[in-house]
Amino acid sequence: MGQEPSAGRRDVNTTSSQFRDALRRVFTRVGMRARAKVAELAQSLADACAREPLQTGQTYRRGQSSTEFADLPAYSAIVKYRDFGKLFKISDPFYRSHDARTASETWMQGRRYVNFASYDYLGLNHHPAVQAAAGAAIEHFGTSVSASRIVAGERPLHRELETALADFYGVESAVAFVSGHATNVSTIGTLMSGDDLIIHDELAHNSIIVGAKLSRATAHAFRHNDPAALERILAANRHLHKRALIVVEGLYSMDGDVADLPSLIALKERYDAWLMVDEAHALGVLGPRGRGSAEHFGIDPSRIDIWMGTLSKTLAACGGYIAGKQELIDILKYQAPGLVYSVGLSPPLAAAAAAALRAVESEPERIARLQRNGKLFLALAKDAGLDTATSEGHSIVSVIVGDLVHAGKLSQRLLDRGLNVLPIIYPAVPLKASRFRFFITSEHSPTQIHNAVNVMREELSAVERRKVA
Ligand code: PMP
Repeated sequence: MGQEPSAGRRDVNTTSSQFRDALRRVFTRVGMRARAKVAELAQSLADACAREPLQTGQTYRRGQSSTEFADLPAYSAIVKYRDFGKLFKISDPFYRSHDARTASETWMQGRRYVNFASYDYLGLNHHPAVQAAAGAAIEHFGTSVSASRIVAGERPLHRELETALADFYGVESAVAFVSGHATNVSTIGTLMSGDDLIIHDELAHNSIIVGAKLSRATAHAFRHNDPAALERILAANRHLHKRALIVVEGLYSMDGDVADLPSLIALKERYDAWLMVDEAHALGVLGPRGRGSAEHFGIDPSRIDIWMGTLSKTLAACGGYIAGKQELIDILKYQAPGLVYSVGLSPPLAAAAAAALRAVESEPERIARLQRNGKLFLALAKDAGLDTATSEGHSIVSVIVGDLVHAGKLSQRLLDRGLNVLPIIYPAVPLKASRFRFFITSEHSPTQIHNAVNVMREELSAVERRKVA
C-alpha cells in the first residue's frame, strides 16, 4: 500500500520540483540563446561564404585594402566554421588522414573503420592487374612525363588509354587530361564563348560552373533533374544565342539520382543544342556492363555530343577524359589550356586507368555486386525511416539530416562508432539540407551495409531525442 507523504517529505518534494522547474527554465534560456546563436552563426556563415559584391568603377587608395590573407572573406568563412565547431564541440570532419589504402574498411590513427567515403566503386584500387600495370609503367617510363604532351611528346600509354575510352563509349575518339576538374573547366571554357548559352543542372559539379564562367557564355541553372524547367529556359533564351550547351551529370554526386537522358536528348535535338554528360559517378556503376548512362537507358552513346568522365573514381587513378567526335577531340588537343599548357598524364596513372577499364570489361560480377549493394542500402535506409531524398540506390545514397549542428555532431558520433562517412554542408548544399553521402562499392558486405544503416538510424534518433528534450 502507498503511504501518505509526511510533511517533511512533502517539503522535500516541493523543493525538488521547484528546483526541477528552475533548472528547466535555465535550460530553456540556454537553449533559446544557443538557438539564437545557431541562427546568428548560420547567417554569419552564409555571409562569410558569399562573395564580396563587385564594385564597378570604384577606385582604391594605396593601403585601403588589407594585404593580410587573414582579412580575406575566404578566410573569415573558415574562422566562422571553426567557431561553430568550438561552440558545439564538433571536431573538423574534413582532411581525415588514413594510415594506408582505403577500401570497404580503412585505418586511421591505428583504429579500424568501415568506410563509406571512397569513390573506388568497383574496388579496383586493390586490383593486382591495376597495380602491376602502374608498376610496369614506372619501370619503363618513370613517374612523370614532365611536360605538356603537345611539346614534350606523349607515351604509347596515353594513346592506349584514349583508344580504350573511345571504344568503351563506341565513339570516334577520346582525350585524357590530368584532372577531372580541369577537364570540365577546360572543355567548356574552350568550346563556348560570349555569344553562347550554357544551361546546366542546378546541382552540377563545381567544375562545370567554373568552366561556364571561364567561357563568358550566358549561363543558366535549371531545377534539378527537371527537363520541363530546362525546356522553359531553352524556349525563352535559345534564339538569343549562337550556340547552346546543356550540361548534366549522368549520376548526380550530391543526390544519387540519374539524369533523364531520353528527355534531354529530345530537348537538345529540338533546340539545336549540344549535350554534355559528366559520367564521373556513372562509369562502372550504371548499366549491366557499367558503361554508364547510355547503357542504363539503352541509348546509342553517339547521340550524346560530349561524354566526360574522371579517372579518379571507378578507374582507380587520377585525371579526366572527353570522348566524342574526332573534330571535338582535335579542338581540345590543340586549344584546351588544360591540355596544351599542362603536363600529360603520368605513366603509372595512364596505365592504371587503362588496366582498370579492362577490369570493368572483363569482370562484370563486380558491377552486379555494386548494383546489389546500392539497392540493398537504399531499401534498408528507407525501411529505417531515413530521408534519402531522390537517391535511386546506385553507388551514392544521401541521407539528409538537416542543419549544420546535426551534421557536425553526427559526423563525430558516427566516427566514434567506427563509421567513416562524410557530411556535406553549406555552401555545397543549402544550410538546412546537410547530408551524409554514403559511397557504396562492390566490396562492401551486406553485413557492413546493415550495420551502417542501423548505426545511422540510432544516432539520428539520439540527436532527435536530444533536440526534443
Ligand atoms: N565531375 C564530377 C561530377 C565530380 O563529382 C568530380 C569530383 N568529385 C569531378 C568532376 C572532378 O573530378 P576529379 O576529382 O577527378 O578532378
